[in-house]
Amino acid sequence: MPQVKEIFRTMDYGPAPEANQDVIAWLAAKKDGFGHFIGGEFVPSKDGAAFDVFNPATGAKLAQVAQGGKAEIDAAVESARKAFGPWSALPGDTRARYLYALARLLQKRERFFSVLETMDNGKPIRESRDIDIPLVVRHYYHHAGWAELIESEFPNHKPVGVCGQIIPWNFPLLMLAWKVAPALAAGNTVVLKPAEFTPLTALAFAELCREAGLPAGVVNIVTGDGRTGALITEHPGIDKVAFTGSTEVGRIIRKATAGSGKKLSLELGGKSPFIVFDDADLDSAVEGIVDAIWFNQGQVCCAGSRLLVHEAVAERMHAKLKARLETLRVGDPLDKATDMGAIVDAVQLDRIRSLVEQGRTEGAACWQPSIAVPEKGLFFPPTLMTNVAPAATIAQEEIFGPVLVSMTFRTPDEAVQLANNSRYGLAASIWSESINVALDCAARLKAGVVWVNSTNLFDAAAGFGGYRESGFGREGGREGLYEYLAPAWEKKAEEPAPARKVDFSVTPAAETPAVVSGVPRFDRTAKLYIGGKQTRPDGGYSYTLYAANGAAVGQAGLGNRKDIRNAVEAAGKATSWSGVAGHNRAQVLYYVAENLEARTDEFTHRIASLVDGNEDAAREEVAASVRRLAFYAAHADKYDGQVHSTRSRHVTLAMNEPWGTMAICCPDEAPLLAFVSLVAPAIAMGNRVVVVPSPAHALVATDFYQVLDTSDVPGGVVNIVTGDRESLAKTIADHDDISAFWYFGTAEGSKEVEQRSTGNLKATWVNYGRAVRWADAQQGQGREFLRRATQVKNIWVPYGE
Ligand code: NDP
Repeated sequence: MPQVKEIFRTMDYGPAPEANQDVIAWLAAKKDGFGHFIGGEFVPSKDGAAFDVFNPATGAKLAQVAQGGKAEIDAAVESARKAFGPWSALPGDTRARYLYALARLLQKRERFFSVLETMDNGKPIRESRDIDIPLVVRHYYHHAGWAELIESEFPNHKPVGVCGQIIPWNFPLLMLAWKVAPALAAGNTVVLKPAEFTPLTALAFAELCREAGLPAGVVNIVTGDGRTGALITEHPGIDKVAFTGSTEVGRIIRKATAGSGKKLSLELGGKSPFIVFDDADLDSAVEGIVDAIWFNQGQVCCAGSRLLVHEAVAERMHAKLKARLETLRVGDPLDKATDMGAIVDAVQLDRIRSLVEQGRTEGAACWQPSIAVPEKGLFFPPTLMTNVAPAATIAQEEIFGPVLVSMTFRTPDEAVQLANNSRYGLAASIWSESINVALDCAARLKAGVVWVNSTNLFDAAAGFGGYRESGFGREGGREGLYEYLAPAWEKKAEEPAPARKVDFSVTPAAETPAVVSGVPRFDRTAKLYIGGKQTRPDGGYSYTLYAANGAAVGQAGLGNRKDIRNAVEAAGKATSWSGVAGHNRAQVLYYVAENLEARTDEFTHRIASLVDGNEDAAREEVAASVRRLAFYAAHADKYDGQVHSTRSRHVTLAMNEPWGTMAICCPDEAPLLAFVSLVAPAIAMGNRVVVVPSPAHALVATDFYQVLDTSDVPGGVVNIVTGDRESLAKTIADHDDISAFWYFGTAEGSKEVEQRSTGNLKATWVNYGRAVRWADAQQGQGREFLRRATQVKNIWVPYGE
């Protein structure tokens, strides 16, 4: 035992172990193994299958847990279905009381859950005690409030139903809270699978559900591995899947759920930039980096794993960082003075080692501090990789470990370019004393969460989720609740969309013109509309459109893969549309409405000739389209974001940002109104669109570009490619430069679109072949369209000294 005066001399830390007897006793009481929590009871697997769970810091076995199979998932889904009716019918304030009770119980057991989480996952007790579990508690309190407010704040919405939720091992109880709390608040029931490495806090939470008197079946927890997860995502009784984990498994789930009508939210991986400008407070930035990449051993989806530092301060920054790393303490996670604990599993440790090795092979310099790292258990030292090329594997791949890769930049433009040079887009951190530089950069980053002069800040009131291959959907805040709600009408709209058969057998575009009264008529084959110009289809072919009575009405261009490519390119270039003020976009949309109204007769005849000859109905459709344009013109500068109430002395800005390039396939019903109802909200929010109109009525859309031309819509904002919607939709779904795709067509087409859009994980909105009553303002217009035309970026700006 060292003497006090020696301690004063060396300033060494003494051991400060957190007591864990309660957890040991709890585990000992379950020595025969944990069952699944189904219908309010703990039940073993039917076939007796089970697996062991270990403490990664010591290698000691902690428990035996049941492996869920088909029988268990069937039973869990059935019990959740049975519970759904009564649970969703409860008044919001009664559901609120249950959530409040869970929050209280968790709060009372904070220490127990912190210790259990640390033993199961290997994370330092300092983090589970001060970050994970308090955030869990906050999440239940916050969502108890939402349960209370759901009816008044989300009118005309319904819970989705039975939710299948699959969570990872890095923040086990926190990820459970992010999924369960909003689901329950909105009136859903759940079947949740925790990660195979870390199921214990979920099972302890199941006990709390019983203690809180939660009705049986509202929460079901089935343990198991990836196969159990797959059984959930594929189960026909599941209405919504919420997943957090790797992008690879996210893709599998997107494919598995395609066409099923299951609502889906994906929170996937990241390679988040940590940008340090030359005017940043470097000492604060160093502390920020420690929290960004060495928090939870770097096993954080939003870890600031790519340091981008201004060239002028890079050397100083690296020197400060190295000095700081020499003071980090790696070791026993249960020791209160430990900064970095254990890696969750040997598989992950091997992955980290091999990626670091690959970095070295590709020419990076690897630096590690000379601090002690335990030889037993799964530990990896904090690591800094410099001399890294932007295209290097370690600069692009998620390492999911305590490894920082560092690169330099010279100008803010270069910083943004490097930051966005990633297939991911989960989070970013910006360090600068200039609010101008920081916010300009924040606006230009492709990331769902941006922290200014801070990092890894979370709160139940703010949405969290990614851009690009980091997934879609948000968790937390108002935006997170929409993932667990559906517009009331969406459930009712069960009638199939009318399908008009179209003959796409090609006819040469330059057909001999018909002769009318002895005079050859000018050929009026409609062209495509790309980049503000009328363009001949690449293939040079057209197809004939017929009236309902079978008479030929005219011809439209038969667009192909190359035309879609050109249209996407044109949309990609029209970026200034996304940058102009909402007011300017509103003016243009009002102008479109005005010009459409001026051509009412022409559009009335066109619609009537292509649909059913009913001129009155067609005239009403034109009038409704004008009104709809005005509706979205009005919204262009009003669908604004929010300042979330997160922490004191923080401004957390939830900004609605356009996707960028969107694609839209229009349905066959209400050809003009549906076209306008889909295009107007998309462009009102600042997107540029590639539109495929209803093939049977394409001439309505090609007439529309005369309206666009005369209304100051900049070239490239609306691009129209006519032709076979189903084959063009495939090309669109495959295209990686399209961020969101709204498809309104057939059931098979919807499935195909969802399946194919996994390449860049574009956000899709499809109708599964069901008709929408476009003339009904509840269905055909509203905030749902605006919400789907945008993605929310949360920017955190702390203030004060
Ligand atoms: P996974 O994506 O495999 O696991 C996440 C969850 O999905 C776990 O519960 C897992 O079960 C389950 N799962 C696995 N396969 C399927 C499937 N086919 N269908 C449904 N569910 C499935 O992540 P890993 O744990 O394997 O980690 C691998 C890498 O993923 C990490 O190195 C890291 O890069 C990344 N990752 C990212 C996370 C994030 O938050 N963004 C979190 C975790 C990992 P089980 O655990 O039982 O296998």
